[in-house]
Amino acid sequence: MGRVLLTALSLLFITTAAAEEHFTAAREDMVRTIQALAKTVPVPSSSGKIDRSVLDAMRDVPRHEFVPADVRNAAYKDRPLPIGHGQTISQPYIVALMTSLAKPAKNHVVLEVGTGSGYQAAVLSRLVAQVYSIELVEPLARNAAGRLRALGYDNVTVRQGDGYKGWAEHTPYDAIVVTAAASHIPPALIEQLKPGGRMVIPVGERFSIQDLMLVDKDPNGRAHTSRALLPVQFVPLLGGER
Ligand code: SAM
Repeated sequence: MGRVLLTALSLLFITTAAAEEHFTAAREDMVRTIQALAKTVPVPSSSGKIDRSVLDAMRDVPRHEFVPADVRNAAYKDRPLPIGHGQTISQPYIVALMTSLAKPAKNHVVLEVGTGSGYQAAVLSRLVAQVYSIELVEPLARNAAGRLRALGYDNVTVRQGDGYKGWAEHTPYDAIVVTAAASHIPPALIEQLKPGGRMVIPVGERFSIQDLMLVDKDPNGRAHTSRALLPVQFVPLLGGER
């Protein structure tokens, strides 16, 4: 009996180790794909360059832990995947681009609007001091918070709420990353950005092609500029008055 149990445990260990090896190799392929896309996707000037630290973070974060079991074998393909409640985890290249555009630094406090699975928050958490992430759909917020805690992403705080209004308690933010498409740039998010801070946000009509915008707040905090960088397609920013 003892020997049967030992054999079963050994087999489980070998299978788990083989699966981890497989996922590590798949993650490396995903990073190579992101690097190749970064050379070809026409993002203006140097904005399209993906920072090496972002690629390292994406090598590190186990995307397969953030997707439902039935799509786990596609976790490292460069495409969005369903995460339930009509929502998606974004395409890895877009996660890399948005993270890089946010110009994360070790002392930064970042707000993410649209936690979804928690994957983008996990990637950001590897690069900054603290991530606050807000999600409208309660079960998604609850599951993402549990997943991030279980995986040890201790510098991410998730709460359920309407991110259109931002998260006033922890302002100002060095950067804000919005992962759902808004019809316009939410005024509260501009307010909650630190002078000199930047926001990355898809802006446009629901269920059509939107613009990925980079918003720079002036160092004096009194004005901001916004630039459209790339056509993208995101699920809509829902909730509240728009
Ligand atoms: N960043 C996510 C990830 O890594 O899995 C993917 C986000 S998914 C493309 C967009 C998310 O925004 C969805 O989970 C959706 O429920 C959420 N959302 C939509 N409107 C929102 C709002 N007003 N406030 C907060 N979250 C919102």
